[in-house]
Amino acid sequence: TNGAASNYIKKIIEEDLREGRVAEVVTRFPPEPNGYLHIGHAKSICLNFDLANEFGGRTHLRFDDTNPLKEDEEYARAIEEDVRWLGYAWDRLCYASDYYEEMFERAKLLIRKGLAYVCELSGEEIRATRGTLTEPGTPSPFRNRSAEENLDQFERMRCGEFADGAKVLRAKIDMASPNINLRDPILYRIAHAPHYRAKNAWCIYPMYDYAHPLEDAIEGVTHSICTLEFEDHRPLYDWVIRACEMPTVPHQYEFARLNMTNTVMSKRNLKALVEQGVVDGWDDPRMPTIAGLRRKGYTPGAIRTFAREVGVAKSNSMVDERMLEHFVREDLKLVAPRTMAVLRPLRVVILNYPEGQLEWLEAENNSENPELGVRQIPFGREIWIEQDDFMENPPPKYFRLTPGQEVRLKHAYFIRCEKVIYDAAGKVSEVHCTYDPETKSGSGFTGRKVKGTIHWVCAREARAATFQLFEPIYLTESENGGDDGERLLNPNSLTQWIGYIEAQMVKENAASTYQFFRHGYFHEDSMLSTWSHPVFNRVVSLKSSYEV
Ligand code: ATP
Ligand code: MG
Ligand code: MG
Repeated sequence: TNGAASNYIKKIIEEDLREGRVAEVVTRFPPEPNGYLHIGHAKSICLNFDLANEFGGRTHLRFDDTNPLKEDEEYARAIEEDVRWLGYAWDRLCYASDYYEEMFERAKLLIRKGLAYVCELSGEEIRATRGTLTEPGTPSPFRNRSAEENLDQFERMRCGEFADGAKVLRAKIDMASPNINLRDPILYRIAHAPHYRAKNAWCIYPMYDYAHPLEDAIEGVTHSICTLEFEDHRPLYDWVIRACEMPTVPHQYEFARLNMTNTVMSKRNLKALVEQGVVDGWDDPRMPTIAGLRRKGYTPGAIRTFAREVGVAKSNSMVDERMLEHFVREDLKLVAPRTMAVLRPLRVVILNYPEGQLEWLEAENNSENPELGVRQIPFGREIWIEQDDFMENPPPKYFRLTPGQEVRLKHAYFIRCEKVIYDAAGKVSEVHCTYDPETKSGSGFTGRKVKGTIHWVCAREARAATFQLFEPIYLTESENGGDDGERLLNPNSLTQWIGYIEAQMVKENAASTYQFFRHGYFHEDSMLSTWSHPVFNRVVSLKSSYEV
């Protein structure tokens, strides 16, 4: 199935084109540059770009930058990088802050038409007089000022005569409307704060409900897609377009925002994690940001497929994070070379293997994709295996290395445990084994069978590496939509092991994502990894119970 192909917004667009209501589809992705994008934004990006692409239309990347207190250049550039990385090319890069002058002029038009007024109630008073679902609001005492007085007041607001919060510009609509959004909403507020882009040019800023429809109309956007919480703002959106006499008329459509299990999905919460130092930055691999997912090793293709499969719905729901994991496995399965890495090493000495000798064994790079070819891996007297692939007193059905039982070394030989060496603390420090040269992998040996196959790395040729494994940032399942109750941080959200990889793989393979046999997919960390000491992030483990 293709979620985007069957979505109801697509049906609306098809009809609009058929009926000639629009000549060309123009959508926009309108982030506020007040943080990094997360996986929820990815859904909106894919939806907007895919819809336009499907109908030969265009998409704008527009910074909805109308709040000087929270926005920053760093965020704007990071957002551009993320959208590009996801594989999309915008037709135009736009900034709401470029439209401030036109928005101001349109506000004066509203004043002249008797559709807006300067109100001196405090924010608290405005909230208190808006009424409730059952009670109408109370008109502001400033509601019936003359247009001349309002124009004068509004110009003086712009000139910086008044303090923050002293006055606002409000639309004059209907204080008794059953839709509270229409009870004289605020259009402009005073904020004496430099804007990252407009600098000190303005000290009044338009509110979202006024700015957004104008931004869409100015750019000729035809289908303005937003999340469900704006559904009951739509009458106001249409009012602004009409009252401001915009020459082009965009329409707003809503879809359910993405919520995902075990995932914080609000910029505010994510920002707090960064500022409190809980994570290593916005691109920490534990973060559900696009930058974090990229650093962890997610592919753009997996995220796009995920966004499409989640589809477009009219009611909020919770998506299982394992669905995203499923798609990254699918994306990596045939392209990631499959190599061996030992995360928690235990030394094995093969007593009957000649000291100083090294041989090269052939190993396929991807058992499901022969096109990736083969490589030669070294084998010698000392190797590393996983600590938990050896047990001295194993439970029943333990088919790995244990005294008196043979096990197969992947791509190599059968070995048998002869002796266990302990350290001063009584912990196993080495296992001494013998190998049977007859059992070489690929030699056609059929003399006897073993039940277990374990992976290993040649000690002499291995390269040390750090492996980072991740768990959710919070211990408990998060609630819908990302508001912060008291949630406990997971002390195990990051685990680091120092182990070994096949040294040759670093030199020979350009790929930086691998499947480590039995461990899962790992991606070299772009910040921490060096040539002499690679650092790998686990993208995802191999198995999942998740069914699509
Ligand atoms: P947050 O609530 O996480 O701070 P936001 O909605 O304030 O995000 P914006 O920069 O305003 O962030 O959002 C840009 C676009 O992304 C908007 O069109 C918004 O509807 C959409 N979007 C944000 N979060 C989600 C989500 N979880 N699922 C789908 N779309 C989303
Ligand atoms: Mg926002
Ligand atoms: Mg929001």
